[in-house]
Amino acid sequence: MRLCRYDDDRIGLIREDQLFDSTAALAQLPSLNWPVPLGDHLIANLDAMRPALEAAADESAPVSIDSVALKSPVANPGKIIGAPVNYHKHHEEAVADSEINLGREIKTIDTYGLFMKANSSLVGPSEGVALHFTDRRNDHEVELAMVIGKGGADISRAEAMHHVAAYAIGLDMTVRGTEDRSLRKGVDTYSVLGPWLVTADEIANPDALGLEILVNKEMRQKSNTANLIFDCAKLIEYASAFMTLYPGDIIMTGTPEGVGPVVPGDTMQARIEGIGSMSVPVRAHVT
Ligand code: MN
Repeated sequence: MRLCRYDDDRIGLIREDQLFDSTAALAQLPSLNWPVPLGDHLIANLDAMRPALEAAADESAPVSIDSVALKSPVANPGKIIGAPVNYHKHHEEAVADSEINLGREIKTIDTYGLFMKANSSLVGPSEGVALHFTDRRNDHEVELAMVIGKGGADISRAEAMHHVAAYAIGLDMTVRGTEDRSLRKGVDTYSVLGPWLVTADEIANPDALGLEILVNKEMRQKSNTANLIFDCAKLIEYASAFMTLYPGDIIMTGTPEGVGPVVPGDTMQARIEGIGSMSVPVRAHVT
């Protein structure tokens, strides 16, 4: 199933490049009382909601995907986890490029662990990226994003992939500088998720997906998740040893080589095999 959120928080299913409105199914979501459980309420109920979502789509007329504004398909993640330096060739370029390393030694997850991106940084492709600090270098990072379905702590490698509800394209936008990653990657609009969720049953092997990003039609990054240092299962095992994962938590798995700057007016086109592609405009943040 391919599930998107669009326009005024409508829910739609993507079937063969067309969108079918499933918003009527949301009436089936159990109601919530304060305090609400951690995580995303729709993702937590996704398996139970599936028949209603499919049935609602069956009743809808097809709509052109190009005619809607795609928002982040996860509305309320409990957390967004990032993976620093998780491709060997990105490690090599970070070591070689002083504009990336700023004089610091660059290591990998074994040393750094993972980092958190602010939930408030999350947008969908239609909202675009608003560059802050345009006097500094702001980079694109295309990444496979995993969305947790079944929560848990201390998840074993053998069980890890059973905890994934879906996959999407993630952009881990980054302002270069000396501050902690959580600040530089937690800027408003610096986490892009889209264009929709592809449920895990449709992705046979998340560790073998081609991914790429073009800026103004120029190829910048092109690799395959087979080149991950910590693969998808290991990221879940590692993260859940520190913190309980909840439905709707997003894990951005890291970016391959080819990170580079974007400036206001650019258009990023990101694509991941088995998921789709999304176009994301870049503008300057206006105070
Ligand atoms: Mn990243």
